[in-house]
Amino acid sequence: MTNKTVLITGASRGIGRAAAHCFAQAGYDLYLTCISSIDRLREMADSLSSRYDITCTAILADMGCYADVERVFSQISDLDVLVNNAGISHVGLLSDMSPEEWHRVLGTNLDSCFYTSKLAIPLFLQKHSGKIINISSVWGNVGASMEVAYSASKGGINAFTKALAKELAPSNIQVNAIAFGAIDTDMNACFTSQELADLAAEIPADRLGTAEEAGQLIFQLSQAPEYLTGQVITMDGGWI
Ligand code: NAD
Repeated sequence: MTNKTVLITGASRGIGRAAAHCFAQAGYDLYLTCISSIDRLREMADSLSSRYDITCTAILADMGCYADVERVFSQISDLDVLVNNAGISHVGLLSDMSPEEWHRVLGTNLDSCFYTSKLAIPLFLQKHSGKIINISSVWGNVGASMEVAYSASKGGINAFTKALAKELAPSNIQVNAIAFGAIDTDMNACFTSQELADLAAEIPADRLGTAEEAGQLIFQLSQAPEYLTGQVITMDGGWI
């Protein structure tokens, strides 16, 4: 029997990397992408391939660029799960943000979900099954000051998820999102240790989540019953 296959975007570190480990452990073949750290990603792909006896392909690609996403999909002939994880944040006043910065955040976080879904859907239709998991944020649910573009991109992902789930349910393709709270990854490296401690103090669980917990939930959602679709599931330690 052939292994199931997952594509995880932005898998060189943080949540994407942790999710890749969970899928590898379960015997999935992996396609992993990153925007710059291809050596680190290749190293990880080689180590997962030999440790779990799976096929693991590392690809350098900007998921906010449709030509790059087409190049990724030119290598994929079969797919069971798509995890749209690649994302960037931008902290600052909206009035200080340039149109280029706005487009970069929206392109990386939201356009990418359109590009990958558009190209994954024909593969899923062939087998009348497939799962799309979009990585969102609590800021997409409630909005954050100083993170307007990021919040808009994640709010867009939430609406995209609900709408596409309705469109694809008749074809037995499930589309869900996970809205993470504060997860301890490099994305939060812009904050000082005091700011992170203050943040943790605001969270009822009294800490940030770990990338491993986030990766675990992504994998578990991929195993959920097919009747679960169109949902934005929040994991934030009781924060928001
Ligand atoms: P991270 O910065 O550690 O990792 C981001 C990954 O995305 C990296 O592998 C990077 O190479 C990749 N990436 C960035 N731009 C890309 C592009 N244009 N094309 C391809 N890959 C690209 O961050 P993380 O915390 O692991 O974030 C993963 C996802 O989780 C993001 O979508 C983020 O918005 C979301 N999220 C994170 C938090 C948090 O607190 N860390 C909270 C909520 C949601």
